[in-house]
Amino acid sequence: MNGTSVVVGGGVGGLCAALALRRRGERVILLEARDTFGGLAGGFVAQGRWHDGGPYILLDLPGLRWAFERLGLVLDEQLELLLLEEPYRVQREGVPDVVIRHSLDQTVDGLQAAFPGSGEAYRAFVRDVTERYDRLAPLQRSTFAGPMGLLGGGRWRDARFLLRGLGPVLRSTGLPEPIVDALGIWTHIADQPLDAAPAPMALVPAIVHGIGAYTVRGGLGRIVDALVAACERAGVELRPGSKVDRIVRDGDAVLGVEVGERRIAADRVVSDAPGISTLTELVRPGPEEPVAERLRALPLQSPGVAAYLHADIDADVPFLRFRLVDDGPCRVLLSPGAVDDLRRGTARLVAPVSHTWAERVGESGTDAFLDGLLMERWWHSGVHGVEVVARRVPREWGRAFHLYRDSMNPTMTASFMRKGRLPHRTDVARNLFQCGSSTHPGQWVSFCAISGVLAAEQALPG
Ligand SMILES: Cc1cc2nc3c(=O)[nH]c(=O)nc-3n(C[C@H](O)[C@H](O)[C@H](O)COP(=O)(O)OP(=O)(O)OC[C@H]3O[C@@H](n4cnc5c(N)ncnc54)[C@H](O)[C@@H]3O)c2cc1C
Repeated sequence: MNGTSVVVGGGVGGLCAALALRRRGERVILLEARDTFGGLAGGFVAQGRWHDGGPYILLDLPGLRWAFERLGLVLDEQLELLLLEEPYRVQREGVPDVVIRHSLDQTVDGLQAAFPGSGEAYRAFVRDVTERYDRLAPLQRSTFAGPMGLLGGGRWRDARFLLRGLGPVLRSTGLPEPIVDALGIWTHIADQPLDAAPAPMALVPAIVHGIGAYTVRGGLGRIVDALVAACERAGVELRPGSKVDRIVRDGDAVLGVEVGERRIAADRVVSDAPGISTLTELVRPGPEEPVAERLRALPLQSPGVAAYLHADIDADVPFLRFRLVDDGPCRVLLSPGAVDDLRRGTARLVAPVSHTWAERVGESGTDAFLDGLLMERWWHSGVHGVEVVARRVPREWGRAFHLYRDSMNPTMTASFMRKGRLPHRTDVARNLFQCGSSTHPGQWVSFCAISGVLAAEQALPG
């Protein structure tokens, strides 16, 4: 044995970090505040049916495969992946639906019919982003290496692309606005303006038409199940119901953590608790450490509002039906039963909200907003006999998952991404590391898994 590692938080990032450290011969104690593991990527059973709480789509299967491989797991043996033939469609009053399919030819034909002249421009755009994706994807699986690392490996060709925001990149295609909006849907659903979002979000169509977008039979919660089972097999000491109150430091060294009155000694600590909470609350920085102020100023992303539904859903209701409106955030109806026999009759209505707005209007304001969404008519088409079985507004997400100011971590803006996010190796203590969504250029499950592996490799090289 090398020593003892403590991992704080058992989200996807923490589970992967724990497993990676254990595989390096460490004694590993994983402390999770909740009674169950998985954090935002977990779910729940309501009236006998499984609901994923947060994530619903895998847009980066290669990244998740990479992380599993690094953990000695074969993803395709652990999970039954379902390719989404029609990952999503986007509706807006007064314009034709934009339908994005896995098949590029079918997508081009559909776009050409709905927006004459757009088909070949779309094909050219996908060709361009596919070439870029091949060059840039390795960056997602490495720790931030500064601007020079960014531009190595022939990536100097992408310098201009990387320096622009998503909006200019998408608009330079000359595609009509409804298609631009549909391509930027992953930022709309994060309530982020296209111009502030990082350009690499434009690479998503390369994935959708290439390797494909996926869900998991039975729900994305199966990813968590697979990781927890692997941790158990490997001998990670899993301790649910253990909220870390403090990471104990002496000078530039972490000595361990405190859970209530109890101190647990550690040679190194990897935190999957929200990045800002770790560096501002858990390590309790002194006034001479200005890090806290800089972090507190970062813009935050809200988990939004969600209503989890049971209903009879017609066969032609797509997996994801987005709705863009002029006077509010994007909404989406998720219907996993469209592709997954184990989740028939379940659905979810989701909308992002701005973090600032949610803090201002409080729980009652976001509750009222969700009530309004449930009254809207657009999502009822093809959906009958609706029963709301659970609901979540930002305050509830925050309480349930110990989020920093009810946020999913700092918003991944273009400038935050270029600066390198929060590093895995903290500068407050030489043996304190971080993983999870705030340490990676995106909040996807795959990114959090990668971040856990990379944080462990930094914590215990070789
Ligand atoms: C509504 C929604 C939709 C999403 N959709 C998608 C999607 O479609 N596709 C996708 O890939 N991703 C999606 N995501 C993002 C993804 O789910 C998250 O980014 C990811 O699960 C975060 O993992 P994490 O390890 O960073 O942290 P978390 O999941 O936040 O886990 C951190 C864990 O640490 C624990 N913790 C915190 N503080 C302490 C403490 N002091 N002591 C002990 N434990 C502590 C928490 O209880 C939690 O379990 C979505 C998220 C949401 C909310």
